[in-house]
Formats: sequence, structure tokens, C-alpha cells
Amino acid sequence: MTGTPGQSKPAQGGAASGPTRWGPVFLDRDGVINRRRVGDWVRTPEQLELLPGALDAIARLTRAGRSPVVVTNQSGIGRGTMTRADVDQVNAYLTARVERAGGRLRGILVCPHAPNDACACRKPGIAMFEQAATAWGLDLTRATMIGDAASDVEAARRAGFANALLVTDPVEPYPASAPAPDREFASLAEAVDWLLSKPM
Ligand SMILES: [Mg+2]
Ligand SMILES: [Zn+2]
Repeated sequence: MTGTPGQSKPAQGGAASGPTRWGPVFLDRDGVINRRRVGDWVRTPEQLELLPGALDAIARLTRAGRSPVVVTNQSGIGRGTMTRADVDQVNAYLTARVERAGGRLRGILVCPHAPNDACACRKPGIAMFEQAATAWGLDLTRATMIGDAASDVEAARRAGFANALLVTDPVEPYPASAPAPDREFASLAEAVDWLLSKPM
């Protein structure tokens, strides 16, 4: 699998430091942290348009000891529209912006495959969760996934943990045939309000 733990190294909350009080947080990237480019991918840092309040929401998670892991499907790599280096550059820029705002990402895991590659990591596949659990010693049973697509909800459902759907894209309504999300919010900020108030 080419999805590798991003720039960050295992740190607090790792297996060596014992069980954490709070469950891990997984964030989708496009449509959650930055605006999704409809019919295209974010191929350069200049194309990364951060959504209002997203950096602050990540900073709040970080201050609460819940630095999130980003899990993102980037099939533009597998389709030949962009390279892995393009995506790494965008993710390095995102990481820097998060840190400048006082937040921290444990890492960014990328599925680079096209849908017909039939990989295990492309959401709704759960291999990126398993990879994160191994890399950072996370207890997946207490995890929450925040995403803006049916594949995010379904991935969390398959992996057996909670999900929250962000309805940030009025263009493409959530498909009626997809599994109903546990919760729905209009922004990452609202989802984080909820996450930080729930006792798990
Ligand atoms: Mg998305
Ligand atoms: Zn993949």
C-alpha cells in the first residue's frame, strides 16, 4: 500500500503512553478542511482554499489533546492527473498552515489509487484507519470520522466507529442510497463543538 503516514511521527497518545482518555479523530481533507474542487483535485498549494473556521477547529482539537489524523482519497494520482509529489506538497503546506494556527496533525494518510485499482485503502475501505492505528497506537473502537461524503460515513461504519457528515457542498446532495450519518453539521467548527462536548 502506498498510503504512508505523512510527515508527522508517532507522538502523544501512542501505544507506549498507555490508553488515552479520548477517542481518536479522523478528518477527511477536501470538503472538510479545504474547499472541494468539483470535478478536479487540489494539485498545488495555491489551489488549497481553507474553509472558514477549519484551522481554528483543528487547533481546538489539538489543545484538547486530540490531534487529528487526516485520511484522504486522492485518486487524481492513480488517474495520472497529478503526482504523489504534488499531493505531498499540498499536504506539507496544509500542515504548515495548521501549525501556524496553533494546531497539529498527527499525520496525513493518502490513498493514491484510482477506483478500479481495487485497493484496500480508498474509502470506504478501512486500511488507512488500520494503518493509523498501527502507526500511532490508536483505539479505533472509540474513533470518530468527520467527512463530507458517503464514502467517509461508510468507511467509519465498516470500521465500527462513529461518524459525522459535514454538509458543506450544496451542489451534490448526500445520496439517498448511502448509509445515514450518525450526525450532520454545516462546518468542521460545529462538528468539533459536538465532539469536544461528548463524553467518550
Ligand atoms: Mg471529501
Ligand atoms: Zn488506495
